[in-house]
Amino acid sequence: MSANKGEYSRFDSEHIWHPYNRVPSSFPMFMVRSAEGVRIKLTSGQELIDGMSSWWSAIHGYNHPRLNDAVTRQIKDMAHVMFGGLTHRPAIDLCAQLLSLTHKDLDKIFISDSGSVAVEVAIKMALQYWQARGHKQKRQLMTVEGGYHGDTFAAMSVCDPVNGMHHLFAGMLAPQVFADMPRCKFDQPWDPRFIENFALTLESNKHNLAAVILEPIVQGAGGMRFYSPEYLKQVKRLCVEYDVLLILDEIATGFGRSGKLFAYEYADICPDILCLGKALTGGYMSLAATLCTEEVSRTISGGEPGLFMHGPTFMANPLACSVALSSVQLLVESGWRDQVSTIADILSAELAAVRELPGVADVRVLGAIGVVELNEPVDMAVIQPMFVANGVWIRPFGKLVYTMPPYTIVKPDLEFLCRQMVATVRQYLAGAAH
Ligand SMILES: *Cc1c(COP(=O)(O)O)cnc(C)c1O
Repeated sequence: MSANKGEYSRFDSEHIWHPYNRVPSSFPMFMVRSAEGVRIKLTSGQELIDGMSSWWSAIHGYNHPRLNDAVTRQIKDMAHVMFGGLTHRPAIDLCAQLLSLTHKDLDKIFISDSGSVAVEVAIKMALQYWQARGHKQKRQLMTVEGGYHGDTFAAMSVCDPVNGMHHLFAGMLAPQVFADMPRCKFDQPWDPRFIENFALTLESNKHNLAAVILEPIVQGAGGMRFYSPEYLKQVKRLCVEYDVLLILDEIATGFGRSGKLFAYEYADICPDILCLGKALTGGYMSLAATLCTEEVSRTISGGEPGLFMHGPTFMANPLACSVALSSVQLLVESGWRDQVSTIADILSAELAAVRELPGVADVRVLGAIGVVELNEPVDMAVIQPMFVANGVWIRPFGKLVYTMPPYTIVKPDLEFLCRQMVATVRQYLAGAAH
């Protein structure tokens, strides 16, 4: 292809799928030349302050010298070797680090390629666990409405039944059990009625349930809602009481985003199975992990066929493991707690400007996550170019205009990001009113 910019764009538009899109795209694409720190540089010459961390992942910003170094050091030894029958230091060091940072009862770890696969692995662990225990009827999953767990089939079956893709794939998705979404806000005083529907649903389905699967504290792509730690505590208590495993999906919340290293720490509980992904490699490569307790792993190994039946071709890719280890070490050393709490303060102060604006339903902040919820879904073809013209990279979905910037963002950049977010929402709502 010639260096002609128009030709590249045309090829993209005519042949390439983008996430949740059609070909050709239903909204404009912006071509990126490079990214550095919190700045995304477009081929047009424009620079955007990044408000998305490339979907929760680039927590240290782009083109980080230490992460670059981890990749280049590793590639001199090997980019990849199969994990069947072979092992290597990058995987072992990373797994040791992840097991030491998570709850002490999480003792075994399965590395995979993406968040959705980590969820599939978690579900398969729960199913094999009950098979091994001879409870063959315990095959269903229970979750709450408003969740998101990925795009593969088992993951889709526990996504929100309305916003998810249930109607499209009706008959193809395993029928799961849904409780009402948690209605208690993060800071709301606890009322036992908040858990009633969940408790009743769990009680009446317990004989068929392998596991409950939830996003702890923050429901991400299903609606960006924050719920009370007490709710999660009660979920854990009920799972123990009714003998159902608890899978926590920390793929979005993990690695500090919520203000805790892992969001389950707010509730001071331990899941039986934990999914990690997104920020695991600092946004460099696709990698995910599923952790479980000794009891889950021992039971699976003691059942038929005595093996856990999963093994991706690129399992524990050394490049991805090396950069993940560096990213996690960098996080631990970085003072992320202060960074995230400063971001939370600035988001709260700045985004409050649109709270009373007609068309705005809610403004909420938890950790380094800021959400402006509108009354109506936005028109992406209209609002996306406005954000770009205003110098920021914000990608709304539905009614949600939200940001989760890299932790390394400095105050003036974050203030700029918030002010442009506020200005764009005003500008968009003013236009939408006509
Ligand atoms: C993004 C996400 C997933 C899916 O991860 P992919 O890497 O996109 O497959 C699963 N669960 C949660 C909570 C997520 O935010």
